[in-house]
Amino acid sequence: MDVRKYQNYIDGVWKDATNGKTMDIYCPGNGELVSVIPASDTDDVDAAVASARRAFEEENWAFNPRLRSAVLKEWGQKMRENLDDLAVRLSLETGKPIGEAKFEVNGSIGYIEYYAAATRTLFGSTTAVDPYMLSVLSREPVGVIGVITPWNYPITLLMRDMAPALAAGNTIVLKAAAQTTGCTTAVVELLKQVPSMPRGVMNVVSGTGSKVGNAIVEHLDVDMISFTGGVETGKGIMKAAAPTMKKLSLELGGKSPNVIFADANLDKALPYAIKAIFTNAGQLCTVGSRLVIEESIAEEFVGRLKAEVEKIKVGFGLDADTGMGAITTEDQFNKVLGYIEIGKQDAKLVTGGYRVTENGLDKGFYIAPTIFMNPPMDSRIVQEEIFGPVLVVQTFKTEEEAIAIANGTRYGLASSVWTQDIDKAMRVGRKLRAGSCWINCYNKLFPECETGGYKESGVDRAGGVEGLMKYTEVKHMGIDFTPQA
Ligand code: NAD
Repeated sequence: MDVRKYQNYIDGVWKDATNGKTMDIYCPGNGELVSVIPASDTDDVDAAVASARRAFEEENWAFNPRLRSAVLKEWGQKMRENLDDLAVRLSLETGKPIGEAKFEVNGSIGYIEYYAAATRTLFGSTTAVDPYMLSVLSREPVGVIGVITPWNYPITLLMRDMAPALAAGNTIVLKAAAQTTGCTTAVVELLKQVPSMPRGVMNVVSGTGSKVGNAIVEHLDVDMISFTGGVETGKGIMKAAAPTMKKLSLELGGKSPNVIFADANLDKALPYAIKAIFTNAGQLCTVGSRLVIEESIAEEFVGRLKAEVEKIKVGFGLDADTGMGAITTEDQFNKVLGYIEIGKQDAKLVTGGYRVTENGLDKGFYIAPTIFMNPPMDSRIVQEEIFGPVLVVQTFKTEEEAIAIANGTRYGLASSVWTQDIDKAMRVGRKLRAGSCWINCYNKLFPECETGGYKESGVDRAGGVEGLMKYTEVKHMGIDFTPQA
């Protein structure tokens, strides 16, 4: 295996952690060493924040949208030229199938291209408050942003946060999840080929969340934290950020309902229901992990679902015929197996429910696509995010019951409604307490479209115009031009 060594990036210089320590990252698909990353300390964070602060104040970045647009566009082009290599590193570190990895890198380029253009449209407003007074609202960058990302879609989630933060004129200190620091850093390494990026605007410090992540969150000179990850980590970050009153953007977990009525186009709904949960082995924040289906069609639909799901080939990410790859971390693998045991107590097992070990897969973290039917509403497999290839089927008889089941968790990230009755789609869709609601599709995500959480699924939105504006402060300027006697 081609083992790659990565470094921190501080003030335009690639360097090891000052303590000289490193962490080894292993491929979840076969257990082999793939990446060596810095195990940084708080002094590396201090240096990165100082670099980002200097660049924010001194470089020609914060107030130069044309430069920002050109840099982001060029960076996106370099990503496109290196798409295949980035996808292989992504697949090796996450275990995801190579086709999904290419799709992810391609989608990430979509984010950087979108925000490269949007940076030139950062609008404000003007109000004539009296004959000789104008009130001008303009958008300014927030300052130094700490971007903290998870391992499940490491390149997309990097771009979804970093591209708008840079587009708005901020400077960045990035800490990626340790498992996927390699492929994330590989994207930043492409800046070697983008000479117009000013020194210190982009900084990377790698290491653990408890040390490096926490030091960024508590740092006096960081103005905002943009965090994507689990709900409990998000709550900890909210507390740790309170003493310095940082702005926060929190994109957290979900337990999203995919609601199917009996009058839906079931031939269209079937493949969507499968992709909604088994893409990336269920490790996607917006997965449709609860299939909420009208009772009259449930048995037949679940029978068809089972037949299709049993055809999914579980395997190594770089094998061309793999349909579903490994679970990305050992902790997550054990967590998912734990939920499967709970499911076996609380519900009927339709398919799956075991670790896959044949054909050499015993060296990796593989789990069969799993479906449970009709657990009680208070079961932990209904109420908690599993973040793995485990679908829970819940049935309903009426529209009201569908809405109550769909809204019946502490999460509120995504949802969908399947019906050919547009009135019903609108009635139900508007009552679902979630940041996204798809009608007759699922997980159709675009850079132009906002996602984010109601309830405990998060604070603020990512993507689209909202996802750009959150990286700005609103400045009011009152201009008095009263004639002087
Ligand atoms: P996680 O919360 O364990 O870690 C996320 C990041 O936070 C990592 O970089 C980690 O090192 C860092 N971190 C951990 N402890 C920290 C601390 N005390 N201070 C600062 N940083 C710290 O999440 P994960 O396991 O990497 O990712 C899975 C979770 O992310 C799931 O819950 C998933 O739903 C969520 N997620 C949400 C979205 C969204 O858009 N809403 C997208 C992807 C993933």
